[in-house]
Amino acid sequence: MSFFVKCLYFLVTLCYTHYSGVREMSKLKFYYGSMNCGKSTLLLQRIHNYESRGMKIGLFKPAIDTKGDREVVSRLGISREVDDLLTADTNFYKLVRNKYSGCSCLFIDEAQFLQREQVDEALQVACQFDLPVECYGLRTDFRTESFPGSRRLLEVADELRELETRCDCGRKATLVGRFKNGVMALDGAQVEIDNQEEIKYISYCPKCYFKQKLKARQKLD
Ligand SMILES: [Zn+2]
Repeated sequence: MSFFVKCLYFLVTLCYTHYSGVREMSKLKFYYGSMNCGKSTLLLQRIHNYESRGMKIGLFKPAIDTKGDREVVSRLGISREVDDLLTADTNFYKLVRNKYSGCSCLFIDEAQFLQREQVDEALQVACQFDLPVECYGLRTDFRTESFPGSRRLLEVADELRELETRCDCGRKATLVGRFKNGVMALDGAQVEIDNQEEIKYISYCPKCYFKQKLKARQKLD
């Protein structure tokens, strides 16, 4: 194709999308990563970007995440109160229709704890209200298995973005280990909220994760 034809094709495409009303629809986005990858920090920065331009947003998190009470807390020290906590039986679509349809963007932190249905409702919100929904959460639990909320998000989100963090060895950390009183947990309930004294979560690359696991197993034998 000659250069002239290429330019003509580009111009025609540009005019078509501009004048035909074709534009990008609002999306359901999933920003995922391991512990300490800066999810909440990015979320709070994104909110700041909207609000500094005078736009209204809605911030939510599942009620099961009791850490920080009603606040989304970034490890860098900034925090913000959520507008609504989502319990397991909250219908996210109805909640948005009744209270948040005038917003420019909606944000959900700790989205791994959402119910599958709530992720579908968030997708419905993005499509039907043309309202972008950004979800932030973990991909896997301490046993390397996915959470119901993140599994559904990985299945249906329009856009997936991985947020990276590093293992102590320098490699990309993709897995997370749970430590109870300094010892890596080999089993237990999927959800146990971390607090300073007993439960702690650390991100590892697969190699270091399995090395830690082996160490914990040897301690048990
Ligand atoms: Zn490592």
